[in-house]
Amino acid sequence: MTLIPGDGIGPEVAEATMRAVEATGVAIEWERVEAGVTALEEYGELLPGEVFASLEYSHVGLKGPTTTPVGGGHQSINVALRKKLGLYTNFRPVRMLPGLKTRFHDVPVNLAIFRENTEDLYSGLEHEVIPGVVESLKIITQHASMRIARAAFEYAKREGRCKVAAIHKANIMKMSDGLFLQCCREVAAHFPAIEYSELIVDNACMQLVMRPQAFDLLVLPNLYGDIISDLAAGLVGGLGIVPGANLGDHCAIFEAVHGTAPDIAGKELANPTALMQSAVLMLAHLGEREASARLQSALEHTYAEGEHLTSDVGGSASTGEFTEAVIRNIR
Ligand code: ATP
Repeated sequence: MTLIPGDGIGPEVAEATMRAVEATGVAIEWERVEAGVTALEEYGELLPGEVFASLEYSHVGLKGPTTTPVGGGHQSINVALRKKLGLYTNFRPVRMLPGLKTRFHDVPVNLAIFRENTEDLYSGLEHEVIPGVVESLKIITQHASMRIARAAFEYAKREGRCKVAAIHKANIMKMSDGLFLQCCREVAAHFPAIEYSELIVDNACMQLVMRPQAFDLLVLPNLYGDIISDLAAGLVGGLGIVPGANLGDHCAIFEAVHGTAPDIAGKELANPTALMQSAVLMLAHLGEREASARLQSALEHTYAEGEHLTSDVGGSASTGEFTEAVIRNIR
């Protein structure tokens, strides 16, 4: 298994997650590789070849957040990994943990977000037309839109989710978001048992805050997926909670929705729940159903007890104290 600890709070939450995974009793051999500023300092490259070599061999990775230096012509590490390894689906389940007192704690939020992971405004195609005028190209293809729509509907069918909503801004971007919608409709027609709807992204933001329980599965182009994921994280207690999976046909990388959080790095304040819940998804992906269920249930138990939570979710425990509580609950 490839482990990319990453930068900022990455190494702290990665260490905590490895310990929790080990406590489930599953035998995993981790191959640790560096990416991000740590790799840039050590090897002079943000994404050294050994990261790809390891993932091409293991096909599965657990990844902490990585910093891409702003400016300097560096391509985002996540964008590069997703494109090169064909990780076209970004799956983010957003669920309320028991006992957590959020603004919405009495609302049963249980969303599945399917974000297209390879194109849209993340294509990295930007240029200066004339001095003072720049252009960023939003690329939407039929191929990528069909692929994410299929992944979303197949998941909905497999997991018994009854409603899929496609999020767009096709009233303004008639061609690009129009094509995305057309593909979602085409796929939806093959799944008559699943209720399909469409929602303009600004309205979706308001509806998600007003009545999050009305949503089941959301399928979105890349940029709206990025923004709505953070909004959805806010509904269930913040970025410290929400896990994610980047899935392709041959490879999968599991990582939290949050970034490197430099403001709290190295202070034992980081909440490792998001990466631990990503490991829950990873274990299920590996067919380790029992270990996956044990880790999830230990996390839920720790939240229900509410005694060893980190400060981002209203507690006062350190990263280590929270991790110890999870490990105790696994055992
Ligand atoms: P990026 O651009 O890399 O996505 P960002 O600057 O948008 O990163 P994050 O690093 O994701 O934002 O975090 C935003 C804030 O949320 C952080 O500054 C931190 O205070 C909080 N946060 C994020 N992740 C965690 C976590 N795991 N535990 C506690 N707080 C967190």
